[in-house]
Amino acid sequence: SIPLSFFGGIGGASRNGILVKGSNYLEALNNVDTVVFDKTGTLTKGTFNVTEINAEGKISKEELLELAALSESYSNHPIALSIIRAYGKELNKDAIKDYNEISGYGINAVIENKKVSVGNIRLMKKENIDVADRPVIGSVVYISVDGEYAGHIVISDEIKDDAKNAVTSLKEIGIKNITMLTGDNDSVGKAIANKLGIEKVYTELLPDQKVEKLEKIIEHKTTKDKVVFVGDGINDAPVLARADVGVAMVGLGSDAAIEAADVVLMTDEPSKIITAIKIAKRTRNIVW
Ligand code: ADP
Ligand code: MG
Repeated sequence: SIPLSFFGGIGGASRNGILVKGSNYLEALNNVDTVVFDKTGTLTKGTFNVTEINAEGKISKEELLELAALSESYSNHPIALSIIRAYGKELNKDAIKDYNEISGYGINAVIENKKVSVGNIRLMKKENIDVADRPVIGSVVYISVDGEYAGHIVISDEIKDDAKNAVTSLKEIGIKNITMLTGDNDSVGKAIANKLGIEKVYTELLPDQKVEKLEKIIEHKTTKDKVVFVGDGINDAPVLARADVGVAMVGLGSDAAIEAADVVLMTDEPSKIITAIKIAKRTRNIVW
């Protein structure tokens, strides 16, 4: 057989569905000390199922879901795709008069003559919507219409089968620092980290705060110890760009991620990062 060194590490990686944008990233992967994961779409499937629709006031459940789906029509966020899928019917996009996605918050839209907000509790606060006594357990998408709270949709995501394996294998190959960053709420974030055996978890982060967190983590390292960030690129392209090695998983597809990343995994399995690290180590043994 032909030795791996013949193709070089980058070729070996690409045959494993791992695109490495330069040999310097292989070298950095060889010195990885910390792996930071994004949650949604990276460790979880990112295909949320709508498990509950709660409409308040005069609005029906059907209308609430339709308004939410219309507002989410132009978003590629996993939450948006799930709400559109749950609605299931054809959407009359002519009804969307205005639309603004706020990364880490949700959507503000004008649907016909209604001003609609669809997003997390942070968005409701920003829009001065009174959400007193409404649930904050699980992942909840709140909806307001014309400045009034109109209901909420409960959604649930699933951990990828491969995620636990990824965390366990990273520990086995000696990566001591495994961290999770998420914009999702504290109860959901901590529950998932706990199930996966990730000890360090930072929740309720806005995209900018994810960058700040990563910078803090990098600051505390010596220059030799490299920090890898693994994300799906939805809302986290700036973090991918800032990491020593930004690794994007393109299972769900995001052009921004492929652009911002140093390493692209052509799969939705986070454990591919271990394959990448192993190839980097093997390449080093052959080259140096
Ligand atoms: P994560 O860090 O888990 O990958 P994001 O940073 O993408 O999550 O989003 C953080 C939070 O912002 C989500 O959990 C959700 O509450 C809210 N959010 C973001 N985009 C949308 C959207 N299009 N519709 C509804 N909520 C959204
Ligand atoms: Mg994300």
